[in-house]
Amino acid sequence: AKAKGRDTIALYDHAMDHAARERREIETDLREAVARDQLNIHYQPVIDLDSGQVSGYEALLRWYHPQRGVVRPDDFLGVAEETGMIVPIGEWVIRKALEETSRWSGDFRIAINLSPTQVRSPHLVDVVARAIHAYGIRPARVEFEITEHVLMQKSNVCVGNLEKLRELGAKIALDDFGVGYSSLSYLRRFPFDRIKIDKDFVEGIETCSDNKAIVSSITRLAEALGMAATAEGVETRGQLDLLRELGCQEAQGYLICEPVPGENFATADAVEAAM
Ligand code: C2E
Ligand code: CA
Ligand code: CA
Ligand code: CA
Repeated sequence: AKAKGRDTIALYDHAMDHAARERREIETDLREAVARDQLNIHYQPVIDLDSGQVSGYEALLRWYHPQRGVVRPDDFLGVAEETGMIVPIGEWVIRKALEETSRWSGDFRIAINLSPTQVRSPHLVDVVARAIHAYGIRPARVEFEITEHVLMQKSNVCVGNLEKLRELGAKIALDDFGVGYSSLSYLRRFPFDRIKIDKDFVEGIETCSDNKAIVSSITRLAEALGMAATAEGVETRGQLDLLRELGCQEAQGYLICEPVPGENFATADAVEAAM
């Protein structure tokens, strides 16, 4: 039994080593990615469930890695967040997304994700203000999506920065609603403009009555609090129809359109025609 225990520990150390090496590798590669212009943004449309029209797009970061191919944020955001690299990367996302938005016609909303470290950054509000001004975007078109992790931080800087973004005219959405452990209390901590219902709940609404009840309740809760509700991760027509029936305002997901690079921007006309 002793020998087995030692083997397990050896294996464990090995795995730890591997994870640490992988993180260092990601960090080095990510620094290069920024320098070599390997980051890009994909845009996913959001539709209004009543009219079927595109109401906005969410900007989603992508890393075009020379060996690994397209790397999704979940595989590098942790490292970017820990090393603080998310701040310059996020500032690049803000500028790039608003610059591209200014080149496309339509008055749609542009949603940008912000991590806790970004919201804590003392330059955030300034970067946003400058970009909005430089690209001539109506501030109310810009929406920032944050998760409850932003509000879980001890410092008051985060709420202060969110308030300042609001003063600029931008909107604030609470992302991944429902998956956290105390989402409800965060609704009192900041007056959000929108709740994004996490895809974990949307996934089961057709087959699981509990999920359906949860989505229905979140939708009504949002309405009662004067917030809009967007369901994410919609993959089937059945989910879409049910969401509309439940009174959810907006939806986003692969059924409607996958996130696509700005170069192949999915115009509102094309998205609506395909629905
Ligand atoms: P999120 O904000 O919850 O974004 C939704 C995620 O669901 C995206 O993953 C999107 O590609 C994916 N998705 C969209 N429709 C569907 C669907 O129908 N089914 C399924 N299964 N997934 C769908 P993605 O692009 O890999 O992004 C992952 C997370 O990374 C995002 O989750 C967001 O938290 C973060 N993120 C993305 N871009 C940025 C960024 O520019 N800055 C920061 N700070 N975080 C970002
Ligand atoms: Ca989001
Ligand atoms: Ca989300
Ligand atoms: Ca998420």
